[in-house]
Amino acid sequence: CGIVGYIGHQQAYPILIKGLHRLEYRGYDSAGVALINSEDRLNVYKTRGKVNDLEAFCESKDIEGTIGIAHTRWATHGEPNDVNAHPHYSSNGKIAIVHNGTIENYNVLKQALEQHGCVFRSETDTEVVVQLIEYIQSTNRCPLIDAVREALNQVIGAYAIAVIDSENPDTIIAARKSSPLVIGIGEGETFIASDATPIIDYTNQVVYLRDDEIAIISRGEPLRVITNDNRTSSIDIQTLRLS
Ligand code: GLU
Repeated sequence: CGIVGYIGHQQAYPILIKGLHRLEYRGYDSAGVALINSEDRLNVYKTRGKVNDLEAFCESKDIEGTIGIAHTRWATHGEPNDVNAHPHYSSNGKIAIVHNGTIENYNVLKQALEQHGCVFRSETDTEVVVQLIEYIQSTNRCPLIDAVREALNQVIGAYAIAVIDSENPDTIIAARKSSPLVIGIGEGETFIASDATPIIDYTNQVVYLRDDEIAIISRGEPLRVITNDNRTSSIDIQTLRLS
């Protein structure tokens, strides 16, 4: 049960894997990673088992890309298996999500989406969120951030999430309610993680996301944080003291 994310000038995959190892102490049953490569293609790799198993699985895969999100899962909805492992992705294969927490009203949302023709791959509560984001984005023809915000307003539960979209290859959107999420601000690169342990190797400048906040992390732009009701939030950068 951990999240790691990276956007910047370095290759994301090694940073994400190292970060997942740092979060292993939290316990988990599956691991996965989603990357957008330099041709703007979304690649998702995930497996039941350990981070080492994920690395073995990725050995012959395209792991190129300077933006990515990664996850260790502690299953709450749906047994631990490859399909239920995160990241989950939307029907059009463009939007990927990692999630820690539980979505209480996922069944109601899932049934409504199925009535609109949405086909689910997994048994997780999490997949509902990414399918809902795609549904809102395609029906409202709105930017990704608006679709994420609207989806979160329909969701009841606890979450820390990170979202990437191959049509917005320079942005990670991260949000939280009742589950922790930390943003590390480096020089031309930004990190996200469930706690600071994967971040401290790279920067000591961190922002602890608050409940009902959504962070828009875009390449070459300052961090932006809004609330679920679309107000701009203040950003409180803290300096980690490394002991
Ligand atoms: N509820 C989600 C699942 O079962 C996320 C679990 C977690 O926090 O790792 O897939």
